[in-house]
Amino acid sequence: MANYDYLIVGAGLFGAVFAHEMQKKNKKCLVIDKRSHFGGNVFCENIEGINVHKYGAHIFHTNDKYIWDYVNSFVEFNRYTNSPMANYNGELYNLPFNMNTFYQLWGVKTPAEAQQKIRDQVDQLNLKSPNNLEEQALSLVGTDIYEKLIKGYTEKQWGRKATELPAFIIKRLPVRFTFDNNYFNDKYQGIPIGGYNKLIAGLLEGIEVRLETDFFENRNDLMNLADKTVFTGKIDEFYDYQFGNLEYRSLRFDHRILETDNFQGNAVVNYTAFDVPYTRIIEHKHFEFGKQTKTVITKEYPDTYEDGKEAYYPINDDRNTALFKKYSALAKSELNIIFGGRLAEYKYYDMHQVIAAALKTSREC
Ligand code: FAD
Ligand code: UDP
Repeated sequence: MANYDYLIVGAGLFGAVFAHEMQKKNKKCLVIDKRSHFGGNVFCENIEGINVHKYGAHIFHTNDKYIWDYVNSFVEFNRYTNSPMANYNGELYNLPFNMNTFYQLWGVKTPAEAQQKIRDQVDQLNLKSPNNLEEQALSLVGTDIYEKLIKGYTEKQWGRKATELPAFIIKRLPVRFTFDNNYFNDKYQGIPIGGYNKLIAGLLEGIEVRLETDFFENRNDLMNLADKTVFTGKIDEFYDYQFGNLEYRSLRFDHRILETDNFQGNAVVNYTAFDVPYTRIIEHKHFEFGKQTKTVITKEYPDTYEDGKEAYYPINDDRNTALFKKYSALAKSELNIIFGGRLAEYKYYDMHQVIAAALKTSREC
């Protein structure tokens, strides 16, 4: 008889939500994580009284009232609205692309003028239906915005040409003809008051968690502890890379404490020129309207992924999509192993989507 109903590999959002839901069904879960903390990429570290998003800025947003109520049942969320600035060679622009951006770029004051400006630029390009990120971006916002605010950022973020990237990535960003700097279109948005750890701690309450435990160092013994395994790590690693390596993009975070109370006046400033090596500077206190005397900033540097680094982003191009399908076919044939989350499903999931996926999976178990 196994000791546990479920071994859950990964104490990130997928693993934590799944464990919580199964515990409600009186199932016994063991959660393991190779890191020294729970939370996966939403983990926060308190530095100088500020919740520092250790693995990059995380802003919660969803259109789904059920998901919003679900997360709020563990921790109260504040009314933070993400409205990043873009810095292109010292010029500042509002994001996402909206009337403020169009005014800053061209001096246009009405939606009709802005639309005309974009139409003029798009018409000159003679684009057919967009096949890649560059064509998609150009057809949405025209040449000026593409050159100043998209091309450089995208190419350093992904480490490849915008013509070699899937179009869907740029569709994450709204384009609107109102003076509205809200980065998201979703109905609900905010940051957990006191940081994301409260959310994860609430989800994992009463559940056994073993940290600094790498599944691959002891996979057979660990799997023998439970009837079923839920795996939220890299699916290609799970299958010993037998069909080849899926590609990922990694990041490097440079966190600094500064002796000033307000460094950049905003939580997120994107640096959109290619020759600035980082993509964004995060000033964490602004997520929670902090009044601390010091501040903590993080420069986020895109990085090539290799062994020993964290795999932050799946690169969902044609090659990787085809390769993932092969791994996914193996996964589907497993009777006692469930694959879930950003790395195991190889999906550019946001938090609310991971939670929805984990809830769905738990309902089916
Ligand atoms: P993860 O958080 O990656 O958790 C997986 C866990 O599994 C990790 O803790 C890992 O250590 C563990 N693990 C992996 N392999 C093993 C192993 N072999 N043994 C033991 N443990 C293992 N989403 C939003 O909604 N809004 C945002 O603003 C936002 N910003 C983001 C910014 C960045 C820079 C990144 C990278 C992501 C962002 N996301 C955002 C997405 C969000 O982080 C994910 O949707 C979510 O955290 C994924 O949860 P997960 O459980 O699938 O994966
Ligand atoms: N993007 C851009 N300029 C920006 C911000 C984003 O070109 O100032 C593009 C870029 O290709 C990026 C994508 O839009 O990868 C999605 O941006 P998002 O902010 O959603 O990325 P994430 O927070 O997931 O890294």
